[in-house]
Amino acid sequence: MENDDIKSSTKFTYFSKKPLNCPICDTEFFREDLFSGGGRLIAGQLTMDLRRLYEDNKKYGTIIPLIYAVTVCPECYFSVLSEDFTNSFKSKDKLEEATTKRIALINELFRGINFREERNIEHGLLSYILAVDCYKLIEPRYIPTIKKGICSLRASWLADDMVKYYNNPIFKTISEIFFRKAAKYYGIALGLAQNGTEPVDGTRSIGPDTDRNWGYDGFLYLAGYLNYKLSDQDQNLERKGNTLIKVRRIMGKLYGGGRASKDKPTIILNNAKDIYDEIRVKVTDIESQLGKSLE
Ligand SMILES: [Zn+2]
Repeated sequence: MENDDIKSSTKFTYFSKKPLNCPICDTEFFREDLFSGGGRLIAGQLTMDLRRLYEDNKKYGTIIPLIYAVTVCPECYFSVLSEDFTNSFKSKDKLEEATTKRIALINELFRGINFREERNIEHGLLSYILAVDCYKLIEPRYIPTIKKGICSLRASWLADDMVKYYNNPIFKTISEIFFRKAAKYYGIALGLAQNGTEPVDGTRSIGPDTDRNWGYDGFLYLAGYLNYKLSDQDQNLERKGNTLIKVRRIMGKLYGGGRASKDKPTIILNNAKDIYDEIRVKVTDIESQLGKSLE
């Protein structure tokens, strides 16, 4: 699909030639997507919460691939990760009823935003906030809980980026709110995966970013890491200590699996090991403050 005109321009996205139909309101529209290849994306560091950072590209400027991963109906604002968009949903009626709620949310955050236009970071942030709301109404076969976790985490990342662009404290608040939501949903999703209600198998990409699927190890790691970060703010020492012990168990499982750990990604193993060691020190400190053992 790429031709020389496109290659020589500074465009890095295109609108699909084939229209999509919204499964909720049947509106026809064209999806915007990133061109692949061409050296447009320059991968940078991976953060502790497994976000891939990208260097600014001199020719194309800043490209944030994750702002294109949610498909949004420009009419009723039904929003889910693109791989889910053409599914049929048992909860279609409920998703349709919630349209007024979605519009109210848009008016509150980014009044007048248009999802037929080329996206910017605001579209990206809003797309994830809308997706979290939509997944609340979607049936377990599409593993909505982990997806609420992924979309919340990405919303938190993008709101954090917004803090750099706009001097508006609301984005800091949004980032914190969605980080907390991400930690909560990852925790619940882990339970649902383990009891088989929402199994996470190897075939589905669960990111958490768009560059790589870290699979079940990444899922387990994040369920621990996000709650570890949140525990920093917990003023209740006993509760904090108990959270840390739970997280330490997860990190120990990840890096301490002996032979089983051979297949695990090194970066996750190393992070898990570092966190495990940090927690050991913190728990000892909390126990001496409380004057009792927590285990
Ligand atoms: Zn629609």
